[in-house]
Amino acid sequence: MSIAENIADLRARMEAAARAAGRDPREILLCAATKMNDADRVREAVAAKVDCCGENRVQELVQKKVLGAYEGKPLHFIGHLQTNKVNKVVGQVDLIQSVDRTELLEAVNKAALRMGLRQEILLEINIGEEPQKGGFTPAEALEIAAKAGEYPGIFLRGLMAIPPISEKKGDNCKYFAKMRNLYIDIASKKYDNVSMVCLSMGMSDDFEDAIAEGSTMIRVGTAIFGPRHYT
Ligand SMILES: *Cc1c(COP(=O)(O)O)cnc(C)c1O
Repeated sequence: MSIAENIADLRARMEAAARAAGRDPREILLCAATKMNDADRVREAVAAKVDCCGENRVQELVQKKVLGAYEGKPLHFIGHLQTNKVNKVVGQVDLIQSVDRTELLEAVNKAALRMGLRQEILLEINIGEEPQKGGFTPAEALEIAAKAGEYPGIFLRGLMAIPPISEKKGDNCKYFAKMRNLYIDIASKKYDNVSMVCLSMGMSDDFEDAIAEGSTMIRVGTAIFGPRHYT
């Protein structure tokens, strides 16, 4: 199947999942996780109307951006971001989804202030409490949201999570539900510098469960582009 056919198929599945959950399908955006796919393939996905592109690695992002791969759609950063590379990402993307530690939050804030802009971000949550993974705990996320006003270079727009690798369908529902509760909790507080519009969760293998549990953005790679070939 072509990229466009895969996206059409995905859209149908997203819509069915939304309806099954009693949700309006328009509430859920499709982010193409474009890692390891070249500019031409990314352009195909953009032409087939994904809602945005999410890139994992700074070098890939810079290279494909020069080639105009993302033109016409918002660009997000969704991978691990080293603090010494924030200058290449801040101001270059519409949203950094993967702010996963205080050091990075502070570096993004500083870079944005220096550039005279306000960078939209999500906080990445280590919702499965996996020791090898980055991300804030829900308690830390609440604390950061409460003092987001102290970071005028950022604008907190929501939360992102990558739950543990699941063994079977449905395993991640409990994590997605936890994320939704945290998201609603922060949104209800009306903190300065916080306006929650994005709950980014769900990938190729579990997006239907994520939609059932309240996701507003799924990040999909394999189901759009096919398997990635790691070298
Ligand atoms: C690769 C990636 C995805 C998409 O994964 P698939 O299983 O291929 O859909 C989503 N989010 C992040 C952060 C990723 O790195």
